[in-house]
Amino acid sequence: MPNPLVIVDHPLVATGLSILRGLATTPELFRRHLQEMAILLFAEASRRWETTEIEVETPLARCAGAVLAKPVVLVPILRAGLGLLDGITRVFPEAHIGHIGLYRDAETLRPISYYDRLPVNLAAAEVLLLDPMLATGGTACEAASILKAQGARRIQLLCVVACPPGVQKFQSEHPDITVVTAAVDSTLNEHGYIVPGLGDAGDRYFGTG
Ligand code: URA
Repeated sequence: MPNPLVIVDHPLVATGLSILRGLATTPELFRRHLQEMAILLFAEASRRWETTEIEVETPLARCAGAVLAKPVVLVPILRAGLGLLDGITRVFPEAHIGHIGLYRDAETLRPISYYDRLPVNLAAAEVLLLDPMLATGGTACEAASILKAQGARRIQLLCVVACPPGVQKFQSEHPDITVVTAAVDSTLNEHGYIVPGLGDAGDRYFGTG
């Protein structure tokens, strides 16, 4: 059984997260640091992926090299998940991309699905579900169920900030999915925001706050 919760312990994750949290961080800086954070989380999530040995010809000699054994599918949950997608595709442009559109009903906080379009190779792929905030867990749980219903078998959830209620709900509904996060904060407030958190990730990324 894979480790169900990985909190990435890295100085660049800690310093980047401090910038993302900061009230005074501009949308430009927030965008840059969310993209960089995504790359660091991606490196951790991909740490144990299988590789296939290949032979590489350098300008000087032949040597052993590696390629990933399975295709990679990135699935941002719209819209904040797009902030993680942009960073990962900069370093891994060959990824396939799917989208899941879910929003939280403001009163019930329940996820409402309005869109999904996923690649056909989900069953064979390493699938990364992207959402910067694991708050109540409802949205992530619903998105993971959609992925499984369409055949995904190896899924990880990448987020930047999680909180105990969200982690518990997600792990109880999807114990087979590892959550990779930069931090687990202490609380969720009555509006469904993580505290201290970083505010509304989508608004801060797109400058709509
Ligand atoms: N979504 C956000 O963007 N921020 C939170 O704190 C919770 C959910």
